[in-house]
Amino acid sequence: MKIDLNTLSIKEAHEALLKKEVTVRELAEAALLCVKERDGNIHAYLEIYDDVMAQADAAQKMINEGGAKELTGIPLAIKDNILIKGRKATAASKILEGYTAPYDATVVKKLKAEGVVFIGRTNMDEFAMGGSTENSAFGPTRNPHDVTRVPGGSSGGSAAAVAMGSVLGALGSDTGGSIRQPASLCGVVGLKTTYGRVSRYGLMALGSSLDQIGPFGKTVEDAEIIFKAISGFDRMDSTSAPDDMIVPRKINTKIIGVPRDFLGEGLDEEVRENFEDSIKKLKDLGYGIKDISLPNIKYSLSVYYIIMPAEASTNLSRFDGIRYGLSKDGGNTLVSYMETRGEGFGKEVRRRIMLGAYVLSSGYYDAYYNKANAVRLLITKDFGDAFKEVDAIITPTSPVPAFKIGEKTEDPLAMYLADIFTVPVNIAGIPAISVPSGKTKNGLPLGLQIMSSHFGEDTLFEIGKKFEGKNKS
Ligand code: GLN
Repeated sequence: MKIDLNTLSIKEAHEALLKKEVTVRELAEAALLCVKERDGNIHAYLEIYDDVMAQADAAQKMINEGGAKELTGIPLAIKDNILIKGRKATAASKILEGYTAPYDATVVKKLKAEGVVFIGRTNMDEFAMGGSTENSAFGPTRNPHDVTRVPGGSSGGSAAAVAMGSVLGALGSDTGGSIRQPASLCGVVGLKTTYGRVSRYGLMALGSSLDQIGPFGKTVEDAEIIFKAISGFDRMDSTSAPDDMIVPRKINTKIIGVPRDFLGEGLDEEVRENFEDSIKKLKDLGYGIKDISLPNIKYSLSVYYIIMPAEASTNLSRFDGIRYGLSKDGGNTLVSYMETRGEGFGKEVRRRIMLGAYVLSSGYYDAYYNKANAVRLLITKDFGDAFKEVDAIITPTSPVPAFKIGEKTEDPLAMYLADIFTVPVNIAGIPAISVPSGKTKNGLPLGLQIMSSHFGEDTLFEIGKKFEGKNKS
């Protein structure tokens, strides 16, 4: 049977596996064939594993013995900053070239228990710093919808791997939009979960108070299936939310908020029209739409680009040429340290380390880092106040559709501006999902971002599923 992973959802593949209409090997072969045919052009992967068929056979055994779970035998791809024991993990950085992970990330452990088939590790912006996957030390990924354009980032490889049909789902990480923005630019679903809901153990840290691992899928239901498999309390992550914090809520979303004053300049005209269309669709589905105000949200980008580099500069100090990966011998410790980091880290990573060290330095700590933390609380409070009036909030996911490769590489500020709608979510620690909302005249995908209050993932799934149904009809 010829299988096209592009037209198959996780749910359908699972049912077909149970009914023995398809085998795990056939799914894995379809994945590898797609990689062979398309990845030369797209470069979603940094590595395709050589034991895919052995993994497939182990999963098939689970199914044959009656132990199948929802993800058993499902081909997935994993971002290169999430550890899989015994496999390479580089965060797309030269400094970690040749590094092998000594243990499984908690999410990986959970997916292994499900019997997932890992196809390979995906390309990304170096250490997840970027919004286009052009900051990879191993060359950019291209958007499957138009290979002259970026797939978004930093999890651009994972988004492209799903969009090109090489896997049924993938994992990414989201510090300021790195799952939702590439999902939007590649026309797939991407979920950033509530801070603490998915364990960060085994994720290479970027901004520890902002980072979350989350799923990509072709449908909201697929993203939900992966989310269920990877979430839950983990004692290995000190910020993991205890299960009893997650109160089951009655899901009956009625009112959706639109922060109009935040949707001002810089928004592409087609994105704006598409967003208005999305509002209409939600109204047709019976939701009430209410204009809301988030007075401090305009400071989100400034706050983010202080807190994130501050945390990143601290987290990345562990790459010292002694403990991990690249090691230059400069004759003495200090020179070895400087040579290793100078050669191992790319330009954007060095820029952020310098920014972070600056805002944390004794003379500027109060003026920048402390101020940013204070404003962070105000932004979080704005969301809290808004969620007293509305059940969810929507914006476009990205202010622009996929841009040309090279278009923003010389202008980091222009690149940072593309994060405008996604970073507030990480600052406040709330969950958000990006759901495909249509295409531009040139066929470039667009996405709608739906946000809800802490632990409100079910609200996102409810609205997301209805919206995507409406979008297809
Ligand atoms: N684009 C944002 C940045 O460059 C988001 C990165 C992320 O979420 N990892 O920091």
